[in-house]
Amino acid sequence: MWQILFSARVDATPSTSTLWAVRLDWPAGDHEFGCPRDDEASARRELDRVRSFWSRGPMRPRLRLVRISRHDFDLHATARRGCKAPDCP
Ligand SMILES: [Zn+2]
Repeated sequence: MWQILFSARVDATPSTSTLWAVRLDWPAGDHEFGCPRDDEASARRELDRVRSFWSRGPMRPRLRLVRISRHDFDLHATARRGCKAPDCP
């Protein structure tokens, strides 16, 4: 359910190398990125949407908007699931 919400409507254009994304920080120390957008305004709407989703449940990941390269975003969606690296955006 969460992954569907998080990855739905990926409408950022492939030509853009840097994206806006919602970063989730879990209590366990790992993080993930979702809701990639080209512009800050729509990224903020995604942040609000994600926040209201989580506010209904018992788990409260820390949420914020970040600028992330498309390369990093793709990595986190595949090879770096459960990433805990401190130097991520
Ligand atoms: Zn990371």
